[in-house]
Amino acid sequence: MVNVMLMITAELENLTDLEPQGGCDDPNFPYYFKIKCTNCGELTQKETCIMLSETLPLPTGRGTTNLVQKCKFCGREGNVTMIPGRGRPLTLEDSETSKYAPLMVFDCRGLEPAEFSFGSGWKAESTSGTKFENIDLSGGEFAEYCEKGELPVMLSNLQSRFDVVK
Ligand SMILES: [Zn+2]
Repeated sequence: MVNVMLMITAELENLTDLEPQGGCDDPNFPYYFKIKCTNCGELTQKETCIMLSETLPLPTGRGTTNLVQKCKFCGREGNVTMIPGRGRPLTLEDSETSKYAPLMVFDCRGLEPAEFSFGSGWKAESTSGTKFENIDLSGGEFAEYCEKGELPVMLSNLQSRFDVVK
């Protein structure tokens, strides 16, 4: 069993506090990524989507998980369970200092998330306080104009990684 933390960063221009629409623990925010089998190393071709509000019973019968999947290559079954409460928004300061912000922890047994995809359903705020909601990041960037601050706002160069955490 290993816990991995999804870490994200991006280049923010006149924007701050990038996070899922309902916060990092948004029960309906879909996390998309490929799945790697830790037994044989096979990486799925297709992306899997998991979210906090969608749970299923663990094969052991004790507790719930967010994903149960069998590796197509070696047949080993594993599961991934989301652990909320440890994420925070990505700030302008993070972006300026090239830091990553933690978003979500995944408890992984036999499977590991890999290659996170930024989809839609994000929010951020301009440095003048204008809220931008339901931002679609599937195209890799976002550009708008903040009327209040009379500034262009932009989000680009999205990056993510998975760090092993305790
Ligand atoms: Zn496998």
